[in-house]
Amino acid sequence: MNYRHAYHAGNFADVFKHVVFTRIIEYLKRKEQAFRVIDTHAGIGRYDLTGTEAGKTAEWKAGIWRLLDSTSIPPDVADLLAPYLDIIRSENVEAGLKHYPGSPLLARRLMRKQDRLSAIELHPDDARSLANLFAGDHQVRVIHLDGWLALGAHLPPKEKRGLVLVDPPFEITGEFDRLVDGLVKAHKRFPGGTYALWYPVKDRQEVNRFIARLRETEIPKILRLELAIRPPSPEPRLDGNGMIIVNPPYTLESEMKLLLPCLAEMLSEAKGGSFIIDWIRSERV
Ligand code: SAM
Repeated sequence: MNYRHAYHAGNFADVFKHVVFTRIIEYLKRKEQAFRVIDTHAGIGRYDLTGTEAGKTAEWKAGIWRLLDSTSIPPDVADLLAPYLDIIRSENVEAGLKHYPGSPLLARRLMRKQDRLSAIELHPDDARSLANLFAGDHQVRVIHLDGWLALGAHLPPKEKRGLVLVDPPFEITGEFDRLVDGLVKAHKRFPGGTYALWYPVKDRQEVNRFIARLRETEIPKILRLELAIRPPSPEPRLDGNGMIIVNPPYTLESEMKLLLPCLAEMLSEAKGGSFIIDWIRSERV
């Protein structure tokens, strides 16, 4: 396990993923009934952008920093970004931008008293950091476990409502297949849940195969969201990233139609950004 998210915290991919994640949680809050967020690859929860790892890549400067620094976000987009950006600001009340909240901390900040979070992390050091972050918090369960197993053992949640984020590091081959297999297993156990699966766009053919396999699952209601910051590179490079959303809130597509053009413009290199919003499977197929 060599992947350390601290090198990438707050980069364009985190911004995209976390904006989508926070929009889904905001939707879940529209009903009084409790929900659970299950984060199968949770990371450490809070990242130091002034630390050695983030300093080596400085990826956050082309990510979250651009959003915080922007003075030209249209008001309707600013409203949609507010739950996410308000948390970033509240994590950084003292000076500049130092702390970046990962997915479990974002979820926790958005939750109400009836909601719960299961945060799963396999790396022993990261699982320990995460457990320390949420020590004594009875709404959060930190579990040192293989996140792929959680898609079986931890579903369905007893709340019967919720969001499952699957955000693997893609450091070993076969991760796209594991995502599809994991989704099929999880969806059988918890068909009404919302699932958000993150994937990198480095090799378009690999992504196309992944999308084709998702179509073959016959799971209904699968929305694909993608954001690229540059046209495809000649050598494999993280040119973009995507999220597969199963059972998306009915509001998500229209929100993304406002958000993604703006994010593509703010986060792209030399105005080379683009986005995709399409249904891999809709209710009608
Ligand atoms: N979801 C986090 C966020 O948005 O802030 C970032 C997660 S990072 C991309 C992936 C994490 O998965 C790393 O912390 C890594 O240690 C962890 N990991 C790798 N393999 C895992 C597995 N099989 N089960 C659970 N966690 C795993």
